[in-house]
Amino acid sequence: MSNPNSPRVRFAPSPTGFLHVGGARTALFNWLYARSQGGTFVLRIEDTDQERSTEESYSAILRGMEWLGMDWDEGPHKGGDFGPYKQSERLDIYNKHLQTLIDGDFAYKCFCSNDDLEARQEEITEDGGQWAGYDGQCRHLSDEEIAEQEAAGTPFAWRLKTPDEDTTFWYDIVLDKLEFQNELLVDRVIVKADGFPTYQFAVVVDDHDMGITHVLRGDDHVSNTPFQLLIYKAMEWKPPKFGHMPMILGPDKKRLSKRHGATSVEEFENKGILPAAMTNYLALLGWSPGGNADEVMSVDQIVKKFSLKKVNSSPASFDYDKLAHINSEHIKNLSAKERLELAKPIIAKDGWELNDEWLIHGVSDTNNYLARVLGTLGNRFSSLLTLPNQIGFFFTEEHFVDADAWNENVAPEEARAILVKLASAIEKGMDLDVAQPASAFEELVRTTAEEMGVKAGELIHPSRVALTGQTRSAGIFEVMELVGARRTVARMKNAANS
Ligand code: GLU
Repeated sequence: MSNPNSPRVRFAPSPTGFLHVGGARTALFNWLYARSQGGTFVLRIEDTDQERSTEESYSAILRGMEWLGMDWDEGPHKGGDFGPYKQSERLDIYNKHLQTLIDGDFAYKCFCSNDDLEARQEEITEDGGQWAGYDGQCRHLSDEEIAEQEAAGTPFAWRLKTPDEDTTFWYDIVLDKLEFQNELLVDRVIVKADGFPTYQFAVVVDDHDMGITHVLRGDDHVSNTPFQLLIYKAMEWKPPKFGHMPMILGPDKKRLSKRHGATSVEEFENKGILPAAMTNYLALLGWSPGGNADEVMSVDQIVKKFSLKKVNSSPASFDYDKLAHINSEHIKNLSAKERLELAKPIIAKDGWELNDEWLIHGVSDTNNYLARVLGTLGNRFSSLLTLPNQIGFFFTEEHFVDADAWNENVAPEEARAILVKLASAIEKGMDLDVAQPASAFEELVRTTAEEMGVKAGELIHPSRVALTGQTRSAGIFEVMELVGARRTVARMKNAANS
């Protein structure tokens, strides 16, 4: 059991789309706060908008959370003392609380249809007036008028009676004091004609009933907070503390959207971003460890340093290059074993397998071979996206030989002659059926260069192109060792004939 005084926070997504970076950042700050304070992190699904909520989105959000490693203490698949954690399964709870508002004369029936509202909005705006969302018409219906509508069976929603005097204010954890004139607050719907609560009502009921102590969410909800505070007041409930985090902008300082590039967590996963790097980057969107502290941090380090006091009140802009940099730093910090685990699915995806040829070279299994291949890369392994290109040539004979690569440093004709010579030197000087170390290849290349009266570099460049298809690669002698003498000779001859 957690300490009764420890914070209870929640992430409350509406399942109407993918988990996008804004939502993931909100989830993360709540999760970090819970984890750094020994608190509880609740995942609640706000699916009261039945038309827009989908199962697909629900699954995508859960999957995104799991991928990022944000485990929840209470919520879907987990349960908890305050469930159910899907709002569509809590209708009786909202109805019970609605009754309290009705009994206290804080709620009234609204018989206006959407068409009525639209017509009145048009009328008012045509006359140059402002339409704030509702004009309070049904608030002033007489008992007879209400009885008439009821007798006619007109569908109705419930609206909250907002006060006309005074102000509603709160001290926001991020934005400081915020204050709104009550007379400007609209009597919004709390329970719709279909019997479902609106977000505004359900969020208050659930945050209260679930014992939420801090509501940390995007600043697009600032305008909802005064209305929600009025519900707390009418219910005589103590509200939680609120903290509204500034929105995430694109590199051009406009609200982050599809046109800037990837925005859903899944897209970043497909772009080869590691969950730890994504978490690291999201944490820096509106928070910083302060001072000259290194920004590349493990999740554990972030949890240790995280503080709500350091959450920034000005908007953060999403920097795709910085994310890529943080990602490469995270890859560099991985152990050989972790790198192997990352590379395995990439190898499998491209259909590359261990073949008999490599077994000759003392390789007992794919993992062993792959581990040695990755070892040749060292810190050049900095992106999952470039990895197939960096190591594919170890696994297949169908790698692409870049035509331009031939022309760099060495003329193609000369290069072909060099490769023929070198291939025959390897055939003569080595047992092709036995694993040969890098040092043996190096010696052979250097001796052959001497015999030919040229610098070793003149042999190395065409060899690299022939073996890897590229002008840059891991050390060529290590490459030869792992490609193996037989395949090295075959590739050299192939390239010479191309
Ligand atoms: N369901 C709301 C949303 O997805 C959550 C709002 C809140 O955190 O209060 O925007």
